[in-house]
Amino acid sequence: MSKRQHNKKRRRVSSSTPSSAASKAKISQDNHELGPEQLGLIIAHYGQQLEVEPLSNHPIAEPLASDASADSIEITHNVRCFARSQLDSLVTGDRVVWQMGSNNIGIITKRLERTSELAQSDKRGQKKIIAANIDLIIIVAAAQPAANYHSIDKYLVACESLDIEPLILFNKFDLVSNPDQRDDYLKTEANCFEMQQHYQSIGYNFLLTSSLNGDGIAALKSAMKNKNAVFIGLSGAGKSSLINHLLPEVSQAVNALSESSGLGTHTTTTAKLFHLPEGGNIIDSPGIREFSLWPLSPQQMASSFIEFRPYIKLCKFRDCHHIREPGCAVKQAHLDGKITSTRIENYYRLLQADESS
Ligand code: GDP
Ligand code: ZN
Repeated sequence: MSKRQHNKKRRRVSSSTPSSAASKAKISQDNHELGPEQLGLIIAHYGQQLEVEPLSNHPIAEPLASDASADSIEITHNVRCFARSQLDSLVTGDRVVWQMGSNNIGIITKRLERTSELAQSDKRGQKKIIAANIDLIIIVAAAQPAANYHSIDKYLVACESLDIEPLILFNKFDLVSNPDQRDDYLKTEANCFEMQQHYQSIGYNFLLTSSLNGDGIAALKSAMKNKNAVFIGLSGAGKSSLINHLLPEVSQAVNALSESSGLGTHTTTTAKLFHLPEGGNIIDSPGIREFSLWPLSPQQMASSFIEFRPYIKLCKFRDCHHIREPGCAVKQAHLDGKITSTRIENYYRLLQADESS
């Protein structure tokens, strides 16, 4: 039987017999043969090795130019892979083309184009990509520790400059809905109803949630359906609790990730992708949760405040920083009540923080 005919007989390779399956597929390092090309999704990155989930029956199989999908062996377990040396760095969430090699270890030969990159600056100020193909960044703020507009705006700027959709969650809403505490919470800057009104009027989605009593979780699930999402936000806001709520079966794995952060080890290499039962994925790691952006130019900063955008192009000077320049349409829009004082002040604060860094 030719190799091609042999491969056309699709077989399921069970995780319990990986080495025999690989040998049946006539994948042998001795004669330097690799199995057929297959599509995969990077689930995790462990130093030199990557964990790849085969996507042979996935819709993204279509872009694969060769007729490899007809030839593929259906592998149902995740495969440890190495990447070909000419590939630039691969991250969790990347879609790749891989081939089975010997000893059930795969070789990644191509990376498919990314729809987005979650990046931050490393210790040397270099852009470092930490996850790929993210379509939703969930900014978690909370009643306790009290949410504030400045940190939410900082996260929103990060999302906008990466061109990834944000969703703002005000978590621990159970504290606000408790009649004994409600008035105290509503007196603070973190008045969740004012905050919700503020961000919704700019155009952002804003949900009130509680991982304790389940309030708002159905709306959160529906916002995450079929998306690749990450959770970011200040420590203590409830990210682990929310993720555990969404992924009860893997909650231990999620906790293990946070613990590794406590030890300060491998914080950026352990990003892991988890499937949501309703469709969609969460990519999580301590590094992602503490995500912060590299410095932006004043132009990038201003256009990351989405309601400034229609006015920026009307400013008298093309390089206007919207501070004291004459003929500034952004400042005029603020005076006309079209841009709030909170947002313009946070724009100045973030600009100054960037300039001093
Ligand atoms: P993280 O640092 O953002 O991952 O926050 P955690 O999930 O570890 O939560 C920090 C603390 O807040 C823990 O003591 C949680 O039990 C508590 N917590 C989390 N979510 C809620 C919530 O919805 N309501 C209340 N009242 N407490 C919560
Ligand atoms: Zn201006």
